[in-house]
Amino acid sequence: MNAAQQTIAGGLKVSKSIAAVDLSAGALAHAPALLKAHFGAGTAFLIADENTWAAAGLALDAHLRAAGIPVKAHVLPAKPKPKPSVELAQTLIGALQESDAIPVAVGSGVINDVVKYAAYKLGRPYLCVATAASMDGYTSAGAPLSEKGFKKTIQCAPPRAIVADVDVLRKAPPEMTSWGYSDLAGKIPAGADWILADELGIEAIAPAAWALVQGHLRDFLAQPRNVARGESGAIENLFAGLSLVGFAMEIYGSSRPASGADHQIAHLWEMQGLEHDGGLVSHGSCVAIGSLAVLQLYSWFLAQDIDRLDIEATVARAPDFSGKAEEIRRAFGPSEICDRSIEETRLKHVDKDVLRQRLIRLKEVWPRLKARLEQQLVTPQRFTQMLRAAGAPAAPMDIGVDDRYLRQTVLSSLFLRSRYTILDVLDDTGWLRAAVNAIPATPGITTGAAAHAGLSEDR
Ligand SMILES: [Zn+2]
Repeated sequence: MNAAQQTIAGGLKVSKSIAAVDLSAGALAHAPALLKAHFGAGTAFLIADENTWAAAGLALDAHLRAAGIPVKAHVLPAKPKPKPSVELAQTLIGALQESDAIPVAVGSGVINDVVKYAAYKLGRPYLCVATAASMDGYTSAGAPLSEKGFKKTIQCAPPRAIVADVDVLRKAPPEMTSWGYSDLAGKIPAGADWILADELGIEAIAPAAWALVQGHLRDFLAQPRNVARGESGAIENLFAGLSLVGFAMEIYGSSRPASGADHQIAHLWEMQGLEHDGGLVSHGSCVAIGSLAVLQLYSWFLAQDIDRLDIEATVARAPDFSGKAEEIRRAFGPSEICDRSIEETRLKHVDKDVLRQRLIRLKEVWPRLKARLEQQLVTPQRFTQMLRAAGAPAAPMDIGVDDRYLRQTVLSSLFLRSRYTILDVLDDTGWLRAAVNAIPATPGITTGAAAHAGLSEDR
């Protein structure tokens, strides 16, 4: 077993829902044995789109038939691109309901998410055959789907078994692999956010979940150039890193081990339907730029002189909850995002006494907090190089986000989740706007007073 397979074996040991992950070159040929061992006899119902059918479905179909397993297939058109929606999952439920066949998702993000939801609704376990190392959702219990246009993560069961044939993964479009690299790289700032919450006594780090995601993260991210080239070892490591995320979330019970402010920023762009070059910007690309912004906030934060923080003045200036709710209404206007953000913000809002205690603690733990964060983080410059080497977007304009939109998004994403992150500590200290305004301007984009309109009441 190599390092990637060993770490996955560690994840399988703690998982109650996933029985097997076959991550190896030629793994497609093992699918019949895996199916018989973990699903029993029955018809395999392959769900793919035209692209993933060509990438893996056809070969899988041949392997299954050769092993005497009956096969049915439902191949969605590649164009228009299938959308991750409850409505699409409903059509699959309809097709699956006609028999008691075993659902087999052949694809990556969208296919896996809609099949995950359909299988869960039908109470059937499913097999996932991965076609790209493009995201961290293969092992996760949630399916991010839109319902009537609003995107949310719906709790479902993860696949019972996963086949990840490295020979298939490495031939995926390089762009998709860069999304996976970005999603995994986002675990660097996400880990920093957890350290912050841990030191401030808000959410303690759970060592087992931490170790699954962070234990080998540096190794798995170490070869961005080889990832871009589709080199087998680098792709195998990338897929292993992405798979471990689901195991960590399963044992921890939330997405904390994998997602912090980086994902909040990304989710806001995704919910706002961010488009660039004529298409929706992928989750991974949004995470790349969200992570970069978070690293910039951290580098500003860590450069501050904590002694200059006047706790009493900060507490006196802190808005009460109704002031925050007002700010949220101004940021989003009447919408479902607005209503949900008010609820999430209510969950994390603290009164002035608690805020005072928190800021006192921040001063007390500062030297140790700073040391831990510096050990966890990489500089924004280094992160940019890693993204570029992996062929991922590495500047906001690479995904069509100008300075003003970037700053608005970072400020508003504070409200999206009750989870404590760098955005919250900057808000608590009254430094958020200053930190956001200090995010370096994108080269070639006009900055100055006009670009920063609406962000002028800096404190
Ligand atoms: Zn993600």
